[in-house]
Amino acid sequence: MRVFNTRLPVLALCAGGTGGMEAAICNIASSGDTVAVLNAGKFGERWGKVARAYGLKVVEYTKRWGESFSPEEVAEFLDHDGAEASLLVVTHSETSTGALNDLEGITRIARERGKLVIADVVTSLAVHPIEFDAWGLAAAVAGSQKGLMLPPGLALVALSEAAWDRAKRSDLPKFSYNLTLAKDSLAKNSTPFTPPVPLVLALEESLRLIEDEGLEAVFARHARHARACRNAVTGLGLELFADHPSNGLTAVRVPEDRDGAEVVAHLRERHAMRIAGGQAPMAGRLFRLGHMGHYRDGDIRDLLAALDEVLLELAWVDHSKTREIVEAALGPAGS
Ligand SMILES: *Cc1c(COP(=O)(O)O)cnc(C)c1O
Repeated sequence: MRVFNTRLPVLALCAGGTGGMEAAICNIASSGDTVAVLNAGKFGERWGKVARAYGLKVVEYTKRWGESFSPEEVAEFLDHDGAEASLLVVTHSETSTGALNDLEGITRIARERGKLVIADVVTSLAVHPIEFDAWGLAAAVAGSQKGLMLPPGLALVALSEAAWDRAKRSDLPKFSYNLTLAKDSLAKNSTPFTPPVPLVLALEESLRLIEDEGLEAVFARHARHARACRNAVTGLGLELFADHPSNGLTAVRVPEDRDGAEVVAHLRERHAMRIAGGQAPMAGRLFRLGHMGHYRDGDIRDLLAALDEVLLELAWVDHSKTREIVEAALGPAGS
């Protein structure tokens, strides 16, 4: 599948992204395994919960929300606290904070230490380049409703040869999420259970849209939109929440004396636009502008113009240069 850059089969499950996470864990791990998890947000934290639900031992490398993990830091972790783990879980784009991790670099140092890497690419697939085979990932998990632009309900899971080998030996309980069954059925152009047919057909269409635009052009568009959002936000005097922001969303730090829920509510009520607030424990402390998937330059212009208006209205800012900043970031070829 080209968005993953793998020659191996990518399996589609009738599940949310979390079901895909669960499938990766219960098919690749076996009882007694230790799983190392990089946790600097809601989804990193969720991976630990999923692994523990299967009785696995979890060692977590926890950082402050908004921070990314450098390959050097992960190497240090894997040489000490994470030494006994055979699996490392990395959230490529941590959607709760807007932070991006260097998946290629982290995978390289993990492989040097004999670890298999499971990647959460839910909000990086079709947003940032992913080289499943070339980077040597063991598994990657995505969901239909983020960069693939579909309604929720379809999880995509890619496994490497090494991961399929481990799946043969895996003794963890599984039934609906048995990926070996799914793979055997796929070889016969079928599925073990009724698939969400409308989503499978829609996926064909969304992949065709991506192919038509060109994967490189899709990445460039996300980079341009991310730049426009970041520049607009910092131009207004606000701070980005993430140290290394993802191109899929822009998380904005809320000033100490303010509540981010105000901005979310005003955009919804006055402009019929939905942005996301912070997830617990960061509720109110950040707000998130999503720009993954089907966005045109005009959508980003409208979003940032509305944000600008709301922030002026709420007196969070007392000036606006957003329009010029956004035009500069989007470039002349507006669409
Ligand atoms: C959305 C998301 C998930 C979980 O997807 P659900 O469909 O809500 O289960 C997992 N990881 C990341 C990074 C996500 O953004």
